[in-house]
Amino acid sequence: MARSSATPPSRLWALLAALALAATQSVGASPLKVDADFASLPLGGHVEVLEDKAGTLDFDAARASDAFKPAPPAVGTNFGFTHSSWWVRFTLANGGDVDRELMLREDYPLIDYLELWAPDRSGGWRHVATGDRTPFATREFVHRDFIFELDVPARSERTFYLRAHSDGPVDLNLLLYRPHALVGAISTEQLAYGAYYGGFLVLVLYNFFLFAIVRDRAIFYYLLYASSYGLYFAVHNGLTFQFLWPDSPHWANQALLVLLALALVFGLQFTRTFLGTGGFLPRLDKLAVSLQVLALLALVASFFASYGVLIQPLALLTVVVTLLIIAMGTVGLFKGYRPARYFMLAWGMLLAGVLAYMLKVFGLLPHNMLTQNGFQVGSLLEMVLLSLALASRLRELRRQSRTDTLTKVPNRRSFDETLPAEFERARRGGSAIALLVADIDHFKQFNDTHGHARGDEVLKLVADRLRAGVRRGDAVCRFGGEEFTVILPDADAREAMRIAESLRRGVETSTSGDGSITISVGVACSQDAGIGGVDDLFRAADAALYRAKDLGRNRVVHQGTPQVATDAGAEPSRA
Ligand code: GH3
Ligand code: MG
Ligand code: MG
Repeated sequence: MARSSATPPSRLWALLAALALAATQSVGASPLKVDADFASLPLGGHVEVLEDKAGTLDFDAARASDAFKPAPPAVGTNFGFTHSSWWVRFTLANGGDVDRELMLREDYPLIDYLELWAPDRSGGWRHVATGDRTPFATREFVHRDFIFELDVPARSERTFYLRAHSDGPVDLNLLLYRPHALVGAISTEQLAYGAYYGGFLVLVLYNFFLFAIVRDRAIFYYLLYASSYGLYFAVHNGLTFQFLWPDSPHWANQALLVLLALALVFGLQFTRTFLGTGGFLPRLDKLAVSLQVLALLALVASFFASYGVLIQPLALLTVVVTLLIIAMGTVGLFKGYRPARYFMLAWGMLLAGVLAYMLKVFGLLPHNMLTQNGFQVGSLLEMVLLSLALASRLRELRRQSRTDTLTKVPNRRSFDETLPAEFERARRGGSAIALLVADIDHFKQFNDTHGHARGDEVLKLVADRLRAGVRRGDAVCRFGGEEFTVILPDADAREAMRIAESLRRGVETSTSGDGSITISVGVACSQDAGIGGVDDLFRAADAALYRAKDLGRNRVVHQGTPQVATDAGAEPSRA
């Protein structure tokens, strides 16, 4: 089975299914009775096949040949990648008194050349020559799969011949339907396909508008990824040939390669942008770039080389790309990047879809449209979750833009938004709100003595002390440089002084080994005299900080009280 190991993923699963089913299939050439009441019947066990290695036999020669053999049990009529032409022969027996009109369906729509010879009523043959290398109009029925009409008159046996030849896998899955059953089956399928591709369309449209507003590059690559991926599946289902390019059989065949290559390129580009792998996984990121180059080479090659040559390396590349994307997502997850959760969940969905299909093949899950098309269903769920991952990423970007990179506390931008909002809320609720402005003492000197790296460590430490020392709901922000602010909702001047003093002492004691870092803190409260608005509050706290510096640093000063609150380690004023 080595030759089938590199078939496109969905066909690979189909092949495994054929293998699993082979054990239960009786393969022989007995005529199939069609007068009984049935809706649809698989033809698999009733066909004989003839391999025409050179592809030179014509119909008369094939018909005269005695080399037809029952299809090999392991693969039935799934011949995989093959340069041969394959003849398939089967006999239908109608023992009843009424003529039977039946529908033959071959449900793999990517066969290059597919021909049918059916006996007509005047002793001749009706010949239909179609396939996806011929214009769509060569089909007897306007449908994405190949459907042929078979006529079996009352009390007669009829033998039919098919000939298949393809650059890609020759995977015949022949089903015989009563017409009413086929209509029922097709209407259900079309609804499912409509829902499936409608899902893709909504995702693409939604993210298109989102991109128009937000302009995040990850959304742009998602758009390209989802579009090429969705179209790739539509090619596989035979829908693009029917609806988008029915008169371009050459492109119809090339499109599968082009879209698969594009899906790989954009899938990797999306992943790299989404996870930001250039920064934290430079080696895997470079590997991703080289895989993108390979996919682009395959795309260019699709203009010169045949489908049969390219599809297997591309299928292999798909497996490698999938593994790489999962590896990058896993590392992102372990690095604590929150949006990577949705990202991995999305890929988990795809793998779950594939798993559902495998379990169905081995009889552990029921056969239904969801399990049969697990790979395809999983891919849509993947796209839905990736869209959620994008929303989570926007949230993360917003959070990052409001967070100080060094100390991980909210930054000036966050402060500028939070303080007016909290001030307004306090005013409406009739409660007090206080503000602390803290500044590290003689920090320039510390930097000059110990270097900026140590200085950065101290900034982080001070931020941690402040954060640990405030109440729930208080907001510590890095205002800039070595200055921090603390917003204290529901705190009057007394409470604010108490907190400020405990913060000051906390910093001093926790850094006592470090040549003792100290902070000066200015305090202001909305209940202080002369505080009319949020700007007054900030000005008052800032002025109090200057007082604290003037009075000798390492102390807390409340602007409202002329008295210095603490007097630890007084030193000469800097004035
Ligand atoms: P004072 O007690 O009067 O506040 O004196 P000071 O030296 O702390 O104040 P000044 O404003 O003169 O100096 C602030 C110093 O803070 C200067 C700058 O090197 C240092 N600084 C500001 N931001 C950072 C930073 O992100 N990392 C480091 N390592 N140092 C910083
Ligand atoms: Mg300072
Ligand atoms: Mg300063």
